[in-house]
Amino acid sequence: MTDHTATAAHAFNDTLSVIASVEPRIADAIRSELADQRVSLKLIASENYASLATLLTMGNWLSDKYAEGTIGHRFYAGCQHVDAVEAVAAEHARELFGAEYAYAQPHSGIDANLVAYWAILNARVESPALSRLGARTVNDLTEADWEALRAEFNTQRVMGMSLDVGGHLTHGFRPNISGKMFHQRSYGTDPTTELIDYDKLLADAKEFKPLILVAGYSAYPRRVNFARMREIADAVGAVLFVDMAHFAGLVAGKVFTGEEDPVPYADIVATTTHKSLRGPRGGLVLATKEFAEFVDKGCPMVLGGPLSHMMAAKAVALAEARTRPFRTYAQAVADNAQSLAEGLLKRGVRLVTGGTDNHLVLFDTTTFGLTGRQAESALLDAGVVTNRNSIPNDPNGAWYTSGVRIGTPALTSRGFGAAEFDEVADLIVGVLSSTLPVTASNGQPGKAKYTLADGVASRTKARAAELLDKFPLYPGLELT
Ligand SMILES: *Cc1c(COP(=O)(O)O)cnc(C)c1O
Repeated sequence: MTDHTATAAHAFNDTLSVIASVEPRIADAIRSELADQRVSLKLIASENYASLATLLTMGNWLSDKYAEGTIGHRFYAGCQHVDAVEAVAAEHARELFGAEYAYAQPHSGIDANLVAYWAILNARVESPALSRLGARTVNDLTEADWEALRAEFNTQRVMGMSLDVGGHLTHGFRPNISGKMFHQRSYGTDPTTELIDYDKLLADAKEFKPLILVAGYSAYPRRVNFARMREIADAVGAVLFVDMAHFAGLVAGKVFTGEEDPVPYADIVATTTHKSLRGPRGGLVLATKEFAEFVDKGCPMVLGGPLSHMMAAKAVALAEARTRPFRTYAQAVADNAQSLAEGLLKRGVRLVTGGTDNHLVLFDTTTFGLTGRQAESALLDAGVVTNRNSIPNDPNGAWYTSGVRIGTPALTSRGFGAAEFDEVADLIVGVLSSTLPVTASNGQPGKAKYTLADGVASRTKARAAELLDKFPLYPGLELT
């Protein structure tokens, strides 16, 4: 992050003065965002800090180009430089993850998942129907055949991890498009261990017979055995789709290898690029050869036109992720999560699953007699940025919740190590043990209001500032 900092500082300052000449409020917001990020203890497990090179790559005229289609096969003229950009991004993604095929266009993680679902439906439902009917595309179908195909689309099933135990909305949650386009059933975790119960999952899958088995999570603090997931998918003839949005950085950095690396086992893998992978905000799909041509139909069938400037930034970030320092970073993310978990455990906090072996920790706020909402707010008052999250069988529901999710990717990017994360655990416990729920008007314990003992917020902020000062964000980048 340091090599070209002085040059980058000039670039950002010049850029901001150009922006300010048109709309100063936007330049101010950009400056203020950096100022805030610098002084907050960012523990949001899905956030990170992209490199200056990655950030600088986003703002340019690649954004002005329309490039629907795929590399070398666009619906617009003059896409040779976008082709070059997308090819480099895809090459880095394939090499980094050892994937047969990579598609760098999705604008976000959710978009990447939609591309994956779309590709699976086309490969496994539409394509066989077309061959059976001797048609090349759906345009060749008779009205009756088209209706029959649409009816077949409507009977497809997906099985993903329940939102309640850490799955993502897009894994079949009913209000989400994934839960509406598919019949869905979710799998939970074992009530005692809070871990995925693969035997039960196998039995449920045999009963439900999904077209798609989804593995991956947003708030499950453990590694997944993708060899087991593959066996389960094979036992029921399902496509294995892995959403590694949260933990792609640990795969890229070779912390998750063997059966914990999804790429050799999955048919399709989707990810974000801005979480543990530390790239620009965006998505990525990896696929086996079987699914490649269907993934390629993502734009314009599911996605809007590619954001070529963002694909360029993905290429830069993926190049960084292929270096030795990124591996060191990824290992530190995992080691630091251990330290954070141990720090909380030894101070008496209950952790979902009893610990972590990835980059995130989910702790139970009922330890402190608080809802997740109260804990999240009290921590924020003290400058500690987290997010509330439900825990399995949450007594306070999905809005107030009884958990807080924290992760190590962002602060590890600043240079925090095990000692600093132990201190972070101490700050969290200090704040929450000084927080009291405010009783609601009906005499029940309130779920949102709380009081934080005098002086705790300012003392915590001061201690956090000391830590953060030792590990400046974008050191040397002084805005004028
Ligand atoms: C964050 C996340 C997504 C969504 O990513 P966006 O870029 O916000 O669309 C999808 N799946 C999982 C598992 C995630 O954690």
